[in-house]
Parts: sequence; C-alpha cells; structure tokens
Amino acid sequence: MNQFDCVVVGGGMVGAASALALAELGLTVAIIEKSAPLTFSPEQAFDLRVSAISLASEQLLKQLGAWQQLQQWRMCPYKRLGVSESEQSYTEFDAQDISQSHLGHIIENRLIQLSLWQKVQQHSNITLFCPETLIKLEQSSAEVELTLSTQILRAKVVIGADGANSYVRKLANIGTTGWDYAQSAMLINVCTDNPQQDITWQQFFQTGPLAMLPMPGNNASLVWYHNKDEIKRLSALSNAQLEQEVMQQFPDKLGKVRVINKAAFPLTRRHANQYHKDRVLLVGDAAHTINPMAGQGVNLGFKDVKALQHVIAKAIGSGEAWHQAEVLARYQQKRRTDNLLMMTTMDALYLSFGHVSPLAKFARNAGLMMVNKLPSIKNKALAYACGI
Ligand SMILES: Cc1cc2nc3c(=O)[nH]c(=O)nc-3n(C[C@H](O)[C@H](O)[C@H](O)COP(=O)(O)OP(=O)(O)OC[C@H]3O[C@@H](n4cnc5c(N)ncnc54)[C@H](O)[C@@H]3O)c2cc1C
Repeated sequence: MNQFDCVVVGGGMVGAASALALAELGLTVAIIEKSAPLTFSPEQAFDLRVSAISLASEQLLKQLGAWQQLQQWRMCPYKRLGVSESEQSYTEFDAQDISQSHLGHIIENRLIQLSLWQKVQQHSNITLFCPETLIKLEQSSAEVELTLSTQILRAKVVIGADGANSYVRKLANIGTTGWDYAQSAMLINVCTDNPQQDITWQQFFQTGPLAMLPMPGNNASLVWYHNKDEIKRLSALSNAQLEQEVMQQFPDKLGKVRVINKAAFPLTRRHANQYHKDRVLLVGDAAHTINPMAGQGVNLGFKDVKALQHVIAKAIGSGEAWHQAEVLARYQQKRRTDNLLMMTTMDALYLSFGHVSPLAKFARNAGLMMVNKLPSIKNKALAYACGI
C-alpha cells in the first residue's frame, strides 16, 4: 500500500501540478504536504501572495482540469504590460501584437493550489498524505525509501517540490549557487479609485521597481522593491501611513488607493547545481528561486512540470524504463539551461536599473525606446515572457 511509482514532496502549486501530470501518464503517485490550504469562499479578502500566470501556464492548468474552477472563483486578466523608467521611455506590450486576447492573469497562489488539489483528490492514481512531513530519504539502486513522521513510503522516483528551502534537495546532497539581493519586496493589497485595470505596469527606480498588478474589481496588488532597511521601515507603518507613502512614491496613474493588507519578502536567488541525482528530481522553487520582478517564478515551475511529463511520456511510449537514470537526466537537460537563461536575464535587467551613472540611465532609456520602435524584437520578447 505504501509503494508508489513517484512520491512528490510538497503539495504547493508546482508539486500538485507535477502529481497530476504524472498520474495522467498512468503512474501511481503520492503527495506529502505539511499543511492543507484554506478552502475558498467568495467573501474572503484577497490573499497577498498572487502570481502573474502566463499563457503557457494557463494551458497547463487547463490540461490538468484546474482552470475551469479558477474561472468560477476569481482571477483578473491583463491585456497590456507597461514598462518604464521615465515618461519618454515608456514601453507598452499589447496582447494584440502577438494575436492573443490577453497576456496573462493575476491569480492568488492559494486558489491555484486549491484548484489543483480538487483534481488531486478526485484522481484514483494519487494518494495525498497531509498533514505529513518528510524526515529521512534513503536511496538504493532499486528504490527510494521515505521516512515520514508516521509511516514509511517507497517509490521508484522522488520529486522534490518542497520550495526554496527544499529539504529533499538537502537530503539528496544537491548543492546550490546563489545570493541574497540585499533587497526585499513588499506586497501591498489595495482598493483603488480606478475601476478594474487591463494593464499591469512596472516603473524602474534606482532603488528598485514599483509595480501594479490588477486584481478583480477595483483592487490591485502593489509590489514595492527597496533595500531591506527601507522595507523594514515601511512594514512598521500603519495602513494609513503606508497609504500616504504609496501615494507619494508610486506614479500618478495609480490614482487614489486604500491599503488593505501588506507583507514583505526577502529576495534571494538560488539555483540547484543539479535537477537530477540518482532517483531524485527537483522542480519549481526547490530547483530555482528567481527574482520575482518579471513574475516568472511559478511559470518556470510549470514549465518544469510540462518538461517532466513530456520526457516520461516519451520514455513510456518508446518502451524504455521511465525511471532509469538516462531518462531522468533528460529532464535536467531540457530545463536547467532554460531556467538559468531566464534567471540571468532578470538579474542583468535588475542590476542595470540599479545603476546610478547618467550614462547607464541613458543606455537603459535608449534601449527601451529602441524596443518600442522595433516591433519584431518587441513581439519576440513578449512571446518569450508569455511562454509561447
Ligand atoms: C514577492 C514575490 C512575488 C512573486 N510573484 C510571482 C509572479 O507574479 N509570478 C510567478 O510566476 N511567480 C511569482 N513568485 C514566485 C512564486 O511565488 C514561486 O515560484 C512559487 O510559489 C513556487 O511554487 P512551488 O510550488 O515550487 O513552491 P512553494 O509554493 O514554496 O510550495 C512548497 C510546498 O512544499 C511544502 N513543504 C515544504 N517542505 C516540506 C516537507 N518537508 N514536507 C512536506 N511538505 C513540505 C510547503 O508547505 C509548500 O506547500 C513570486 C515570489 C515572491 C517572493
């Protein structure tokens, strides 16, 4: 009873999606998760943790059957994406330019997880162990033994989807490279005087970007990047005081807002040196934690899920033993370089906007203006960011 093809440790957005994707292939899957997400009811205030879900992620969520439920709950589509440092360098990306009806949706992380859990709980190939936690992991040539707080499970393959501080990664002795950006991001949920927006925008300052993500109705999620001391000071303010600071620092187009809720998160970059070791694979934040500036974190995690499903489906289809090392290594080959490229591009952008010299500022603004005048480059960049 405690023997599975795959055990997924972590039932967050990426772990739950991985379990469904593997169960779709006919594999038996267990998920181990520390705590269940709170169930949804429409009168709940918006959560602080939200994600900009790309077109590619939307496709995956549709394929896994979770999207339909999310549409019935709540989400906010956006058609345009505005980026600027100054008024002159304002660049706008539009869904129409890549023949799409929208560029993505802003959705609460918990709702994405819950919609996937609904499907997990209906799937006969998936067993959910929650609340449960991983204590020990031992690999032999034939299987992996996972000691949990109350039982022992055995699996051919273990998927570490247990987030940025992955214990699976640690137990498998997989090292990481990375750094602390010495910055934090403050997430602020606000009610706006403006009606629901169809644009998400980000304005760059030397201290870090300020961003607006539209939410359903006249609501928005603001992201304020700054050094840790400043974010600490802002966190200590009352909502009314923070409101004053937001009105002073954010661009006028935000309009008048009322602060509803706030929390701060440190920014770190971490990349696992391997996504595959023996019978252990890493996906999502367990494999890569990226600067959230371009809203790519969970989207990269969902791309991992697609790649993993593709690699294993192909092996099953061609009669290979899907759990052998050569097959599992193909997942790493497909994803690690792609993720590294995205992480490095984000870091280059982030660091370039933090540069104070007038020359760097001129180059940045010229770059943004040039992108505006070259539709082919602009549309390619947009399609890449949307994952299509
Ligand atoms: C400020 C901020 C803004 C962001 N904005 C965006 C955005 O707009 N778009 C985007 O794509 N991404 C965004 N991200 C990134 C995104 O939130 C993460 O990439 C995403 O949450 C990672 O999902 P995950 O499922 O891999 O990990 P997690 O969400 O961390 O889930 C891990 C799960 O594993 C469980 N777990 C951990 N350890 C154990 C254990 N030992 N045993 C059992 N269970 C365990 C946890 O309880 C949790 O449920 C943002 C991040 C930050 C910090």
